[in-house]
This record gives sequence, C-alpha cells and structure tokens, in this order.
Amino acid sequence: MLDIQAIRSHFPILTQTVNGKPLVYFDNAATSQKPQVVIDAISKYYSEINANIHRGVHTLSQLATDAYEVSRHTIQRHINAKHAHEVLFTSGTTHGINLVANGFTQFVKAGDAVMVSAMEHHSNIVPWQMLCERTGASLRVIPMNEKGELVLEEFEKLLDENVKIVSVNHISNALGTINPVKFIIDKAHAVGAAVFIDGAQASPHLSIDVQALDADFYAFSGHKMCGPTGTGILYGKEAWLNKLPPYQGGGEMIKEVTFEKTTYADLPHKFEAGTPHIAGGIVLGTAVDYLNSIGLDNIAAYEHELLEYGTQKLSEIEGIQLVGTAKEKASVLSFNLAGIHPYDVGTIVDKMGIAVRTGHHCAQPVMNAFCIPGTIRASFAFYNTKQEIDALIAAVKKAQMMLG
Ligand SMILES: *Cc1c(COP(=O)(O)O)cnc(C)c1O
Repeated sequence: MLDIQAIRSHFPILTQTVNGKPLVYFDNAATSQKPQVVIDAISKYYSEINANIHRGVHTLSQLATDAYEVSRHTIQRHINAKHAHEVLFTSGTTHGINLVANGFTQFVKAGDAVMVSAMEHHSNIVPWQMLCERTGASLRVIPMNEKGELVLEEFEKLLDENVKIVSVNHISNALGTINPVKFIIDKAHAVGAAVFIDGAQASPHLSIDVQALDADFYAFSGHKMCGPTGTGILYGKEAWLNKLPPYQGGGEMIKEVTFEKTTYADLPHKFEAGTPHIAGGIVLGTAVDYLNSIGLDNIAAYEHELLEYGTQKLSEIEGIQLVGTAKEKASVLSFNLAGIHPYDVGTIVDKMGIAVRTGHHCAQPVMNAFCIPGTIRASFAFYNTKQEIDALIAAVKKAQMMLG
C-alpha cells in the first residue's frame, strides 16, 4: 500500500490553489509534476558542480561528467539495457523518433514500407511520413477497433518482407490502451523488420525491460516521468546504433576532424553532438531513482485502482461517451458529453481548479477514427486520489448542467 498523503507532500505544486480551489492535476499524460528531490537536484547542480562535460581536466568538469554518466548507468539499469552506451540522452521522445527516422533513410528505398498504428501521437507519425517522402517508401497503418485496440490479425496481414521498420506506442496517450508490444516485436522480427517503441506514456507507469521485449529502439521523455523538460532517452541496440549514421554533427560526436574527412566518436557520443542538457540528464537519473523508491509495480497497481474508480464514476453520468475502452489500459480517461464541445467542459472544470486536457491530444487520426473533434482527457498519476476524482465528477456534472 502506498502512503499517498506522504507522496503528495513530495510535490510542492500540489498544495497550490487554482482559481481559488485546491489544484487537482489530471493532465499527467501531457507532463507530470516534479517532486522536491528533482527540483533540489537541479538547484544543486547549478549551485555546486556546473561545468561542461567530457571536455575539461578540471575538477568541476570531472564531477559534472561523472554525474552525467552515473545517470546514464542508472537509466541503463532501469530499462535493463545490456550496455550503458546503448542509452542516448535526447531532448525527448520526439528527438529520439526523428533521430532514428532520419538514420533509416539509408536502409529504406522506394517500394519498401514503414509501419505505424492508427493510435499514434503525431510525433510517431510525421517523422516516418517524412522518411517515406525522402525515400519513396509507403506508410502502412495498423488499424484499431471501436474499443481502441490494435487489430492484430490485420497487423499480421500487413507484415511482409517489404516492411523495414514498425513503430508503435507502448501506451496510447489519447486512449490509454496498453499495446501488446512484445507480440508486435516478435512478429515484425520474423519478417526482418526493426521495431521502434514509443514509450513516452509507458515509462511513467510500467517497468520496462528492453532486453525482454527485444525492442530495437525504445524512446521516452523525462518530463512525463517526474524529470525535467527537455530531457529524454533513446535506447537502441548496439548493432543498430553502430549502423545508423549520426543525426547531428558538431562537437563531442567526433573522433578526428580534418577538412578532408571526419571520423565519428564511439557510442554513445556519436549521437550526442554539442553541449547537452547536462543538468537535465543528471536529474533525470534523480527522477528515476525517485520513481524506483516508490516502485513502478506499486505505481501501476494504484493507478489501476484510480482508473477503475474513475471509469465507474464517469460511466454513471448520463450522456457520457468513454473514448478508449481497451481491456488493457493505463490510467487515461478520455470522454465526451453528448452535445457539448470538450473545450467548453474543460474551461468550466478549470474554473473549479481541475486541470484536464481537451482537444485532439496530438492524435488527430485517433479523433478522426472515432468521428469526434476531440475529447476531455483526465490522466492520473500515483499522487492523485479518489477524492480528486470525485471533484472531477462533480465538476463534469456541473458543466453538463450549465451547458446542456
Ligand atoms: C508525449 C508523447 C510524445 C512526444 O513526447 P515529447 O516529450 O513531446 O517529445 C510521443 N508519443 C507519445 C505517446 C506521447 O505521449
């Protein structure tokens, strides 16, 4: 059992009032709040060890470099990567996807195919479309059913030797669906396709084992898992990272530079050009340690309780449409009220101090599939409570009365 009140006291922002009401923060799928240990670690870095990394013999530079590499090892253990140099620091999931989609330009040709699913975030669609435009490859899309689950028989039909890479999310940010990524990875490997997993929504809620999954690439964002914005991780299997060309050229990613020819640094530095977000990278390790101190299994179990409670309470409201009712779901509730625009509900709910997201959640194709302009989305974290869900239900009912 988690002591939720103790956990809440780790997050200073949760004591705020918004519009005169206690803040209820239900926009965790957009970004999570930060615990005091993370906030303090940022301040400590800039107060005590700020220096550029991998460059100086001086003491501070070595301290900063050590802390940065310690964080890389923390994250390596956290996702069970075989090697620390398979763990690349990025600015976020979007960066990781673009890095690989760009690198794949040389492995994909006209007539080949790239596969995504019908429930992807725009950042896991657009970079692959751009790859297709550059190469003449075609984009294949795994369909989903009316519950928001991938149709696996269709996926298998779409798979053949022309598919060079399959990129799907582990958990959908718009629907909460947890996808059977292990199944997808195994089937894709059987036809020789690589697999990229967008783990932006999974990393805050599930423990991840990239070796057990046998994922070729796995990306996530720091800011959705209690870490700083502008941080993220791209895991890639060593063999793939050695094959892929660098994404950006610059300092730190080279072995030797002459005007005739430049040779590239070994992993991971080949993919880490320029001065990175040093404080962010170090503190992402702090955030991972914090999550592990609570335990991702405990987090997943508690959030599932919140999901069931919220689903039950919301379903009791007349005229409610739940969008995304997959059997395997994370703590995301997307819904609509009959005849009312999601934006109007969001505005009224905000007046009552409750932060929800309204709109298409960077997943317009998902909204198109359900023939809706958007949804109201409440996404729960382990610091949320059933009382807060009650407040949301009351606010939604009030909005319905005012707008209905
Ligand atoms: C948030 C999110 C992204 C993009 O992450 P950034 O942090 O904005 O780079 C990609 N995919 C999914 C499923 C997401 O939830």
